[in-house]
Amino acid sequence: MKLRKIIKCPICQNNNIKKIAPIKNHLKEINKKFDLMKCQNCSHRFISKFPSQDILNILYEKDSPLVFGGTEYELKQKKNFITYGFKDILPQNDHWIFKHVNITKGRFFEVGPGLCRLYKTFLLKGWTCQGLEPRSFVKLKGIKKNLNQIKNNNDIVSAFDVLEHVENPIQTLKNINKKMKKNGQIFLTFPHSESFKSRILKEKWSMVAPLSHLHFFSKKSTKIMLNKSGFDIVEIDDFSFVEIRRLIRNFFKLPFLFLKDIIRLNFKNIFARIIEFSLNLLDLINGDQLKVIGRKI
Ligand SMILES: [Zn+2]
Repeated sequence: MKLRKIIKCPICQNNNIKKIAPIKNHLKEINKKFDLMKCQNCSHRFISKFPSQDILNILYEKDSPLVFGGTEYELKQKKNFITYGFKDILPQNDHWIFKHVNITKGRFFEVGPGLCRLYKTFLLKGWTCQGLEPRSFVKLKGIKKNLNQIKNNNDIVSAFDVLEHVENPIQTLKNINKKMKKNGQIFLTFPHSESFKSRILKEKWSMVAPLSHLHFFSKKSTKIMLNKSGFDIVEIDDFSFVEIRRLIRNFFKLPFLFLKDIIRLNFKNIFARIIEFSLNLLDLINGDQLKVIGRKI
């Protein structure tokens, strides 16, 4: 596979980039082939070599293991989607996007709808919906494989967990921008490079997963990226996948688990549990994801 070595920050173009560490991977062909890099100017993190977007598109279309770090839960959901189709997909009426969407009905365009839960919610609310999804098992009315097939003048666009996967996020946002109405809202999420998990775990952070994730954004690199692609930032916030209720439950289980570890003389395990718990606690303070609301200028 042809890879391009990245010699300056892909977002702010600064030459002052630093190698953090080589990235281990369970797939032999990419184990230690990539380094985790950091821009000293905007704190954007990225992997040291990128494949072209054409190669990435092919990998996603065939659902290659190189770009799909799917958990067992995700694999099961995908199987269900293929077997039962769209009718069994549950809508997501409590999705945070609905707290911010400023019109009641219009044209919605989702980049990377995946298993189409949010997409279905907008459809049920009576919106005109379009989606861009490279993975070929997602077949549905309005879902297209190529951006050229997407109609213009969309009011609302979402791209959740998309920009970390593409070669050039600024170009991707510029292309999306052309498909939107003036003052249209864009909603984005992606991994947060200045979170505690990112800064403490470095290349061992679960988000660092070549060739699936190429980019990890800071608040500063997010602002630069949106400004360069024709958007104003309305809101930018970190958030965490950690559930407070589950964390509290785990906290009360800890003494019993420690006792079990002590009986088995497994002191390494005790240490690992403390680290894991502390990291999840820190993640609630400075979460390892960013959510962004922008407005087309
Ligand atoms: Zn930079």
